[in-house]
Amino acid sequence: MVKQTIQIFARVKPTVRKQQQGIYSIDEDEKLTPSLEIILPRDLADGFVNNKRESYKFKFQRIFDQDANQETIFENIAKPVAESVLAGYNGTVFAYGQTGSGKTFTITGGAERYSDRGIIPRTLSYIFEQLQKDSSKIYTTHISYLEIYNECGYDLLDPRHEASGLEDLPKVTILEDPDQNIHLKNLSLHQAATEEEALNLLFLGDTNRMIAETPINQASTRSHCIFTIHLSCKEPGSVTVRHAKLHLVDLAGSERVAKTGVGGLLLTEAKYINLSLHYLEQVIIALSEKHRLHIPYRNSMMTSVLRDSLGGNCMTTMIATLSLEKRNIDESISTCRFAQRVALIKNEAVLNEEIDPKLMITRLQKEIQELKDELAIVTGEQRTEALTEGELLQLEKLITSFLEDRDPESRLEVGGDMRKIHHCFHHLKKLLNDKKIHGKSIVSSEIKEQDCQEPVNIKEEEYKKLRDVLQQRENEINILVNMLKKEKKKAQDALHLRSMDSSELRHSPSSPFPSGNPKCSRTLLASAPTQAQNVSTCGPRSSLLHRKTGMREEMSLGRQEAFEIFRRDHADSVTIEDNKQILKQRFSEAKALGESLNEARSKIGGLKEEITQRHMQQVALGISENIATPSMPDSLEEKLRSQLEEEKRRYKTMFMRLKALKVEIEHLQLLMDKSKVKLQKEFEAWWAEEATSLQVNSPAANSPSHMKPLPQTPETQQERSQLLSNPSEVNARKTVHSPGAILHSQEQSSTSAPLKDSIPEKPVSSIPLTGDRQTDSDILAFIKARQSILQKKCLQ
Ligand code: ADP
Ligand code: MG
Repeated sequence: MVKQTIQIFARVKPTVRKQQQGIYSIDEDEKLTPSLEIILPRDLADGFVNNKRESYKFKFQRIFDQDANQETIFENIAKPVAESVLAGYNGTVFAYGQTGSGKTFTITGGAERYSDRGIIPRTLSYIFEQLQKDSSKIYTTHISYLEIYNECGYDLLDPRHEASGLEDLPKVTILEDPDQNIHLKNLSLHQAATEEEALNLLFLGDTNRMIAETPINQASTRSHCIFTIHLSCKEPGSVTVRHAKLHLVDLAGSERVAKTGVGGLLLTEAKYINLSLHYLEQVIIALSEKHRLHIPYRNSMMTSVLRDSLGGNCMTTMIATLSLEKRNIDESISTCRFAQRVALIKNEAVLNEEIDPKLMITRLQKEIQELKDELAIVTGEQRTEALTEGELLQLEKLITSFLEDRDPESRLEVGGDMRKIHHCFHHLKKLLNDKKIHGKSIVSSEIKEQDCQEPVNIKEEEYKKLRDVLQQRENEINILVNMLKKEKKKAQDALHLRSMDSSELRHSPSSPFPSGNPKCSRTLLASAPTQAQNVSTCGPRSSLLHRKTGMREEMSLGRQEAFEIFRRDHADSVTIEDNKQILKQRFSEAKALGESLNEARSKIGGLKEEITQRHMQQVALGISENIATPSMPDSLEEKLRSQLEEEKRRYKTMFMRLKALKVEIEHLQLLMDKSKVKLQKEFEAWWAEEATSLQVNSPAANSPSHMKPLPQTPETQQERSQLLSNPSEVNARKTVHSPGAILHSQEQSSTSAPLKDSIPEKPVSSIPLTGDRQTDSDILAFIKARQSILQKKCLQ
């Protein structure tokens, strides 16, 4: 059992404005417990100068200032927890702080750069690396991802759902068993055998989380997310299994309602969030007070789920995220105060070992059978019917393998059936007798031979000669046997090396060798540009992302073009492009590395072949000249061996680099997929908004008759002439299949034909907004007209 208080760390988010500095200071002098001092600015508002410098000091395990990078955070905060999880203890890392203070950035990571990946991907990477190193145990890893919003739990890893809102995801409920253990009903557990699979699950959950979010329900700031790694470990042959869970928690923003000044639905949400954070606080206060018997875990879903992590069987760590700007002073102080209380809680982590019922059943079944057999012998239970032909055959086979088994400890297991036991004795007797007769015949023939030789008179000289020849032959045989042994050992070594290589390759599914995992390795070697655009086919995310991005294929051409424009002008497109470029680079690097690796491999093979040949030559030379194998090392062979070692080292370095590249590529692809889904989502929202404003702005919407043409307001007239005179619209015209009325008028524009001709037959307001090409092109044209006017206005 390990007793320890909850560890608290502080992380200060980088501030944009320089003058904000001086609002806090970090005292690192107190080596053991550094402190963070928050300095209240002098208040001049009341008209008098308040010279009293007010400040608050808070102690933390460690404080990470603005320049701390994600690697440092992982190494110092999450890695020790991951280590204890690997040792079999439960662990939790949770981030607490106001919205925008960097909780998600710390736990999950930034959405742009690979180096910005947060605690979850880094922990996954670390855990899988450690599992791979330890082959003495059998590990199983499962992942779950839960979101709690307004006191309801949602399963973020449900791949079957077309989640367009949180309510589309499966609802997770809490069940408590008689031993007061918490069970989460409907929360799916997904096995992840590799880091790649686990990452796919993380991104699937994050994508679901992003898609479920709407502007009204900014779930990410108002919900709690709990990513859990379930690890179980067992030694081969043992019936005890060790379980450990690691919760990585991104809590809702801790800001108070009064400050945010919200109302209506938001207030309800805020109440819930604040309520659950309030209950969290209550639990923490109760835990930090001595002699409190009742801890109010049951008051909220979040405290129920995290019950073990707070004041229970867990190694828990809190990260207080702080955005230390003047306007956030209150919230920062309250975050620090919360942390100070959390630091008082003592947890007692124990190893969670239990007996695996399945393994136990198998073991007990075997024991029962043995006991039954014994009982049958003791009670002398008789079976009268004769053994069948098959049973006899089976018994004889058992006897043969028993006799052939060189292990002196081996047993002949025939159970307690006396008929079988008797048959075994009979059979053995028969075999023994057969052998006796056979043995006698051999002995007699030997005697006869001796008899024949006896009369031969061997002369002393001849005898000596023969003995010399015999000696010579014996020497030769010894040399040959030694040679054979060496060859055999070498062959075994080569086999071992090969199997090591291939096992390394197996561990790395994207290794570029044909002998590695076939599916993903092919993906990695595919040409860079297409890869950069492709959604990987590995893992559960592909189906989801295909579904999410597949929307585009169903778009009308007009809408597609609008999407292209939207995408081009979107801020994220720069990120996507950047990432694409990086991906391209990484792919070509991986490709080149793959080629070099293959070269190194064949070089290693060649060198080994050369060494073997050289060795054979040396031995053969020794035999032919009748001298023992030279004890002096052969210089050429030595040289070849050192070359081989060098080549192997090079191979290993390249292999490691390729492995790291693979993880980076995978991560970048997932980031890009996520950005694409986000872009698509924002486009849909923008499109809907534009369509609505088009409806509202269109006077036809108010018109009693749907067939009535659009009135020629000066604005629309101007817009149209703008549109028609804008050469950049040519493309738009080309793509519109059925000539939308506005676009239709373009030919007449130069001849200043009456605009009446160009008025749509179908009033915009009456057209359904989705899936109709005509409507889409109308909207597109309208939007473009508006855009070009705006652009012109800006230029003026
Ligand atoms: P929260 O989850 O607490 O609401 P976020 O993690 O979403 O806050 O952070 C808000 C913004 O600040 C994001 O754009 C994020 O990228 C950025 N950010 C937060 N912490 C850091 C940091 N340490 N370094 C760089 N950017 C950060
Ligand atoms: Mg967040």
